[in-house]
Amino acid sequence: MANFNVHFSVAATSSSIVAILGVNLNVMDFSHAPWLIFLGIVGGMLPDIDAVNSKPVRLLFNILALLSSTAVLSTLKNYVVPYQLFALAVVIYWLTRFLVLASIKRFTVHRGIFHSILALIFFTLLMVCISDYSFKQDAKYAWLNGFFLGFGFLVHLLLDEMYSVDLSNRRMKKSFGTALKLFNYKNLPSSALMTLLTIFLYWATPPLSELITVTEQRVGYFIFLISQYNEV
Ligand SMILES: [Zn+2]
Repeated sequence: MANFNVHFSVAATSSSIVAILGVNLNVMDFSHAPWLIFLGIVGGMLPDIDAVNSKPVRLLFNILALLSSTAVLSTLKNYVVPYQLFALAVVIYWLTRFLVLASIKRFTVHRGIFHSILALIFFTLLMVCISDYSFKQDAKYAWLNGFFLGFGFLVHLLLDEMYSVDLSNRRMKKSFGTALKLFNYKNLPSSALMTLLTIFLYWATPPLSELITVTEQRVGYFIFLISQYNEV
């Protein structure tokens, strides 16, 4: 299993490369790059959310708690008076920080449901919905937020699997296949519940077409430029 530092640096490097590519292709603004790289790093830490006793996970929970109270603040800021809003933000922060942490500790095992493609899709769509409904970002950036988080998540799963191969002995360690799986085969009820939530989130997401159109146009233009350059 790759450790925290490896996950952190690989997530930071790979999200930065994708962000630089996105900015150069004009798919996204330079000003959004730091936030998207940050989400890539959070995604790269997220699968180990079930390793509740480690220090990095506690740090991750602080970040998630901050993110969720910011999401609640921006959703309700026009409907609730400031002091109630502040109290609510504090409650949400502590709820995420302690209650969610405690329930994950109680109900999950390490390398269980959070190390799966299903969880990857769930968290990607959750990020898209939070960006759309709470942060009020337009559809393109909501999806970019989701994709960067999901990309970091995927990099984490791949790294865990790579660490399962003992390169010097060319044999598989016992952990092989426990990170990159479709869903948690050992706990079907939790997989079924996560599938239902994922379908609901997909239904709630804004249209993806804008991001696809922009990406197609920019990549097409880039290929056109290369072909022109080769002809000269
Ligand atoms: Zn892991």
